[in-house]
Amino acid sequence: MRYISTRGEAPALGFEDVLLTGLATDGGLYVPESLPHFSLEEIRSWRGLSYSELAFNVMHPFVDDAIPADDFRKMLDETYSVFSHQAVAPLVQLDSNEWVMELFRGPTLAFKDFALQLLGRLLDYVLEKRKQHVVIMGATSGDTGSAAIEGCRRCEHVDIFILHPHERVSEVQRRQMTTVTGDNIHNIAVRGNFDDCQRMVKESFGNQSFLGGKTQLAAVNSINWARIMAQIVYYFQASLALGGPDRSMAFSVPTGNFGDIFAGYLAKKMGLPISQLVIATNRNDILHRFMSGNKYEQHQLEHTLSPSMDIMVSSNFERLLFDLHGRDGQAVKTLLENAAKGPVSIEDYRWKHARKLFDSDAVDDKATCDTIREIQEQNEYLLDPHTAIGVRAARNCRRDSSVPMITLGTAHPAKFPDAIAESGVSVKPQLPAHMADLFEREERYTVLDNNIAGVQEFITKHWKNA
Ligand SMILES: *Cc1c(COP(=O)(O)O)cnc(C)c1O
Repeated sequence: MRYISTRGEAPALGFEDVLLTGLATDGGLYVPESLPHFSLEEIRSWRGLSYSELAFNVMHPFVDDAIPADDFRKMLDETYSVFSHQAVAPLVQLDSNEWVMELFRGPTLAFKDFALQLLGRLLDYVLEKRKQHVVIMGATSGDTGSAAIEGCRRCEHVDIFILHPHERVSEVQRRQMTTVTGDNIHNIAVRGNFDDCQRMVKESFGNQSFLGGKTQLAAVNSINWARIMAQIVYYFQASLALGGPDRSMAFSVPTGNFGDIFAGYLAKKMGLPISQLVIATNRNDILHRFMSGNKYEQHQLEHTLSPSMDIMVSSNFERLLFDLHGRDGQAVKTLLENAAKGPVSIEDYRWKHARKLFDSDAVDDKATCDTIREIQEQNEYLLDPHTAIGVRAARNCRRDSSVPMITLGTAHPAKFPDAIAESGVSVKPQLPAHMADLFEREERYTVLDNNIAGVQEFITKHWKNA
């Protein structure tokens, strides 16, 4: 399988190189040159498979001969055995023909574990083969950091440095990062905000000379293709559990960077009958404004009760724009260069084409809280604020009640106790047993000034072979 850039100028790469690369050299994102396509008959034959067997069938064409089939199967078995539910991604019914798929049964209680548990293992496998080492450098305002640390804690060939804004992430989120110990895990609290952290990471990727040529940086944010790939699987899983592929499904996806929902779009293109995808955003609604009015325009960042969806631009949306423009990299490049300067639109027929599959809704904090309370009252089921946005949008945008509507449950409610309290629900969400002692565990992190030279010096001093 070859991968090409959405901006058309960077060289095509194979799976291994795409895994180790962040942005393409032309500033674009990598996508498969062509997608595998499965017949209904083939998808039907996957009924009753375990999650990891299904994951193999869906992902193997992307990995191709980079990893021998037996090794890849073993890796997937290990990856999905760390989840705390036998079904890995269980479905919970909310109402007639309406469901939540719980994607928060992994070690850090958010859906990002699906991809990052696999990514850590993929990286280590490929690096072992190549006798190489990488430094993962990432900035986090919450869920990505902890999922990446959990995913890489056992990697021999990876050191991971995660920057978070000092005293500006929730205590649960901080502890999920800082209580994981391992000599390749380094948490840095920066005396600054999330944007400062992100800027330092970006600049370091742009100029890696501080590493002295002895190692290289790798990315774990959702621009990494492997993360998208791993998220395609659970769309198949949900469909097969509810009568697919012989009936089509609708999904509602709480989204910020358009990563998770882009995986659903790919599942459809690979042959899974999906008749509707609902883009569910919070007040940071650039995607909703585009889908409802064909205008892509950056607004100020708003801080909401669903912080993992607080974004100004939506990085993976570029991958959809590439398809909407007939895979013309030059057109995407021009469009996005213009988008950095001001509002942009796409040709009406392209936008209408997107609207055939996608609907969208923006849900504010009040409606988020109302939904948490409503579902708790109706079903005694507690939603986290991100999932609540998905459920609200699903109900607002539903086209056909005979089509099963599945909202992706992206986080466990115990990760966001403040939002639950604000919604007026009196029950307190409990951390699952394997994390019940989170607040007693010892934390390890280093506080550094908001200064890139200091952060880079810390990295060069502390990576394993330094
Ligand atoms: C990361 C995250 C999202 C948004 O995912 P995208 O890939 O940006 O669409 C939604 N909910 C939770 C809980 C998350 O951690």
